[in-house]
Amino acid sequence: MDLLLPGLLLYAATSCMASGLVFLPASALAESLPAGRSAWETRLWFAALLLPHLLAAGSVLYTLRMHALDPVSWALRAPALRHLSFWWIAQTPDAAYRVRVIGLVAAAAVVAGLARPLLSLLLAWRYARVLRGVSVEVPELGVWLTPLDRPWSACVGFLRGHVFITEGLAKLLDAEELAAVIAHEQAHARRRDNLRLLLAQAAFGPTVLMPTAHAFLRRLQAAIERDADADAVRANTTAPALASALVKAARRLRDLSADPDEEPLRRRLAHRYREQFVAERAQLLLDAADGALDAPPLARRLALLLPAALLIALAAITAPLAPPSARSLFESLLAALHAGP
Ligand SMILES: [Zn+2]
Repeated sequence: MDLLLPGLLLYAATSCMASGLVFLPASALAESLPAGRSAWETRLWFAALLLPHLLAAGSVLYTLRMHALDPVSWALRAPALRHLSFWWIAQTPDAAYRVRVIGLVAAAAVVAGLARPLLSLLLAWRYARVLRGVSVEVPELGVWLTPLDRPWSACVGFLRGHVFITEGLAKLLDAEELAAVIAHEQAHARRRDNLRLLLAQAAFGPTVLMPTAHAFLRRLQAAIERDADADAVRANTTAPALASALVKAARRLRDLSADPDEEPLRRRLAHRYREQFVAERAQLLLDAADGALDAPPLARRLALLLPAALLIALAAITAPLAPPSARSLFESLLAALHAGP
């Protein structure tokens, strides 16, 4: 009885690890995709990376449920599961109890999966309250002005987004650049981008902390920024104005962060990510303004997607299997049970 929960958790953990090994190459492929992909491709990648996660979670739960109710039919196919199944049933003869334990594990997985989006929701709500407390609304521009020196803008809120810009940014940019930044943030509000990111986080469930989910969410965020840039350019602004606003704000942020009082590690990390990201966005905007933006050929994009499809099939097959080391562990456990009194 005391071995029940540790054994169950070990089994679920090893299954997740085995399927995680399959997801890693998929995420590396996603990282290698060229920038400036179209929306359908982002969606396809979302499905390609989400599906193995769901398959893994589904197959682990399904296998566990089968073991709780009727282990024999499954036991014939997978020796490792047969060992575990008989071991578990020997420990807990009450089938109703086994089903309750699986329900509990499934509920715990769901709660763990919802923890991150819930935390994001809570932080965003708190953030919006604090920002609105100190900012002044400028209705003619459709923004809130925040009294901070850092050049920074954001769209806050999930259903009805509010646009905040700092006084530092308003002073730094000329009228055309400022209009471009506001158009970009208003595009986020109109497209409910914060909600889309939150739903994407929730969709990954408990696997949201795995490297692939993390890599995918970062790519999704980059795609969302590019789409908002494109929307802003279509609305009332020019691409070079938005590009120059991005570069100006990034330079000013770098100067401010060169301040020796700021913590060095945080400064370095913030910069490496931000500057590369800003450079990529600005380059895309300038290319678009020159009419030089061309998507990679369809054949090349499909060639990148094909390995992902193969990985999905592989994940579907291997997800419920524990690695050999875990199997031998279960075999030793069984041997120990046999040798017992
Ligand atoms: Zn943005």
